[in-house]
Amino acid sequence: MSQQKFLPFALPDIGDEEINEVVDTLRSGWVTTGPKAKQFEADFAAFIGDGVEAIAVNSATAGLHLALEAIGIGPGDEVIVPSYTFTATAEVVRYLGAHPVCVDVEADTLNISPAAIRAAITPQTRAIMPVHFAGLACKMDEIGAIAREHGLKVVEDAAHALPTTYQGKMIGTYSDITVFSFYANKTMTTGEGGMVVSKNPDLIARCKVMRLHGISRDAFDRYTSNTPAWFYEVIAPGYKYNMPDIAAAIGLQQLKKIRRFHQQREVMAQRFDHELADLPLTLPARPQLASDTHAWHLYPVRLHADAGINRDDFIAQMATRGIGCSVHFIPLHRQPIWRDSYQLRREQFPITDAAFEAEVSLPLYTRMSADDQSRVIAAARAILTT
Ligand SMILES: *Cc1c(COP(=O)(O)O)cnc(C)c1O
Repeated sequence: MSQQKFLPFALPDIGDEEINEVVDTLRSGWVTTGPKAKQFEADFAAFIGDGVEAIAVNSATAGLHLALEAIGIGPGDEVIVPSYTFTATAEVVRYLGAHPVCVDVEADTLNISPAAIRAAITPQTRAIMPVHFAGLACKMDEIGAIAREHGLKVVEDAAHALPTTYQGKMIGTYSDITVFSFYANKTMTTGEGGMVVSKNPDLIARCKVMRLHGISRDAFDRYTSNTPAWFYEVIAPGYKYNMPDIAAAIGLQQLKKIRRFHQQREVMAQRFDHELADLPLTLPARPQLASDTHAWHLYPVRLHADAGINRDDFIAQMATRGIGCSVHFIPLHRQPIWRDSYQLRREQFPITDAAFEAEVSLPLYTRMSADDQSRVIAAARAILTT
């Protein structure tokens, strides 16, 4: 078994189309935000549909920061986030001097619990940040109803959720503002990058200005419009979050493949479902409606207490069999900064905490062959049936 090559946990799927588009950009003389980024934004907005606008940024973290700034989050405000997420979801709240309020998830989906959101609302609460864990949509109808009832905004962390649907609608069309990630291991990549999507022109306008130093026109506009190129006005102390055309070139071509990528992920997830079903583990939840789409950014399983092996040893044994696994997530309430700043205790997040202790993300990506997946299945079976 050690003769076989190590199967990494994730790999980007980059082809000649992306490489040629990048080379075209490099030869064009315009390498920062320009025509490719504009085209990528237009294509992405069309892909999400329902009249959204999209603005490209250099990470989802940057996009989430812009989104919270645009909806007016400020010092002392509270923003409700799941503890079961990556630290980026919470850190952007702190960037603005506001407080992330961590809540528990639901046991079946590992998505933020609407009941826990309700219980966490205070007079300081301004927004809810659902995270569509692994690519499965949160209960957006219930979350939307809570938000309307309490006058809260919804900013979706959709880093895992391309393409995800909820009750037939694309994630990105539901709430005030939604942010996707194109980090190297996500369902499509630009190396680093993200996209902010909204139907609200005021929020889009604010994000556009704050994305580039608070300048009222971007560099490409300046060099292509009739007013003098040297003239610009700074209307706010903004950030430097624009996506360069070199990255957008990759994204343009990745987006053309996203349906095929997703089809491959779906087939692989179904195969895992079938071939792991009899093992002592909980398989990932599926959408409530069979017609809805799970993006399958991750394939997270949870080992049962009677599996005969704990999570850490399982991952170590998979590694000795040449297979890379990962864990999603180490909950925020276990990270020193969040635990100590807000006196978070494990007992406050029983579902999240138990999920973390049992969770293993198996490799699932489009560059895996059927043989690669057979190896993952065989290794998991060997570890869990001996
Ligand atoms: C990857 C990820 C992010 C951050 O995305 P970047 O593009 O790397 O900034 C945010 N939230 C979640 C849940 C993620 O998985």
